[in-house]
Amino acid sequence: MEAVIPLPVRYQGVEWIEFANCKGADPGLFFPTESARTKVTEARKLCEACAVKEICLSEAMNDPSVRGVWGGTTYDQRKRRRRLTGLPA
Ligand code: SF4
Repeated sequence: MEAVIPLPVRYQGVEWIEFANCKGADPGLFFPTESARTKVTEARKLCEACAVKEICLSEAMNDPSVRGVWGGTTYDQRKRRRRLTGLPA
């Protein structure tokens, strides 16, 4: 059975998700526990080659509730970027 990335409800059915490099990938890569840094590295490699990386990052930057790796960034990295750019953290 194919693993499914647990997307927030507002992204379910969104068209660009169909082109995501992480579609069918192990959700544990994108939503790892604190001790699973190698998984984050693996997830970010998938993001680097993803056709929808920019829109994915944009969506995650605009939604502080989004957790996990999106657009090649972790939750903490996005939180720092939001703070630096004046977006709501
Ligand atoms: S950028 Fe990464 S998290 Fe976003 S859709 Fe692509 S592979 Fe998935």
